[in-house]
Amino acid sequence: SSSPLAPQHVRDLAPYQGGKPIADLARELNLDPASIIKLASNENPQGLSSKAREAMLLAMDGLTRYPDDNGYALKAAIARRFAVQPSQIVLGNGSNDILELAARIFVTPADTVVYSQYAFAYYRLATQAAGARGLEVRAVEYGHDLGAMLAAIQPDTKLVFIANPNNPTGTLCRPGDVLEFLESCPPQVLVVLDEAYVEFLPPEKRSDTLALLQRFPNLLVCRTLSKAYGLAGLRIGFGIASPAVAELLNRVRRPFNVNALAQAAAVAALDDAEFLRETIRINTAGMQQLTEAFIRLGIPFIPSHANFITFHVGDGALLNQYMLEQGVIIRPLTNYGMRDSLRVSIGLPEENARFIAVLEAALGG
Ligand code: PMP
Repeated sequence: SSSPLAPQHVRDLAPYQGGKPIADLARELNLDPASIIKLASNENPQGLSSKAREAMLLAMDGLTRYPDDNGYALKAAIARRFAVQPSQIVLGNGSNDILELAARIFVTPADTVVYSQYAFAYYRLATQAAGARGLEVRAVEYGHDLGAMLAAIQPDTKLVFIANPNNPTGTLCRPGDVLEFLESCPPQVLVVLDEAYVEFLPPEKRSDTLALLQRFPNLLVCRTLSKAYGLAGLRIGFGIASPAVAELLNRVRRPFNVNALAQAAAVAALDDAEFLRETIRINTAGMQQLTEAFIRLGIPFIPSHANFITFHVGDGALLNQYMLEQGVIIRPLTNYGMRDSLRVSIGLPEENARFIAVLEAALGG
């Protein structure tokens, strides 16, 4: 059914499948949208940072103008916050924008891209959209096998994607393994280290990956404002790399790829330490609430280092359908080849409780 006008590798693309929007489910099942809870897209359940809200209200007056294409204020805020230079930063329309740019810039159709089985689905999509071939490396206990990924690198490999922590598995590479990977990786391969969930790691589990940028000019670290900072709907993320890599990304990205409201909100959100602390507090408590329930119900799950948990049930599609009918949206993982698994994002205590109650009813009934 796809248009013959496009080349075959584009016609073969399987679309990214995000969480079902609340409005869609409400329409489909004739439910009150207010009665639906969505724990499907690893969003922040806390609501908007009040500082970000204020910043956006102020920025409204400027909306007849184009945004700052160079993102001067936001880059300055990121540089301050993470102790890097503005010349090392590229801003994206979500971090997906940066992932896509990396594939588009550093890879030709003659090249290969290495990523892990069960790694974030967009890596495969970005690779295929670039016309390149993906080398998917078998996971170990649902996590990245960095040794095997290193061994999979071919002379035509130009890019490696590593998600740490990974979505949808919540797995974390062992401390030191990323450094070891970079030390052994050929320097002509760009390593994209996707840290979309890094803020959820306790300090003792976090490694200073930005410090590695000094040593590895082939490293690109990706961060997002969509998760811990609670700005998923604004679409804003960023990459930090060597100035040479950042300059290339900045040259190829679309002009004005980050809108003015997003830039203003991101500056404020990066500065809202209290919001971030509360996010972590809610996540830690919710993670405990959900894992305790899984253990009590005898449901196996993958221990997670992020703001979601993937758990194993017999028939994922069946349970997912039941949950949808009860107004609870979670995430099936069929596109990851994990038909027996579902992923639930950590919500507010009452949202988690509702999820658990519906899950329990499904198992008991
Ligand atoms: N990387 C990972 C590992 C993710 O899970 C996601 C969001 N699902 C992204 C990147 C992209 O997020 P965004 O484009 O909203 O920054």
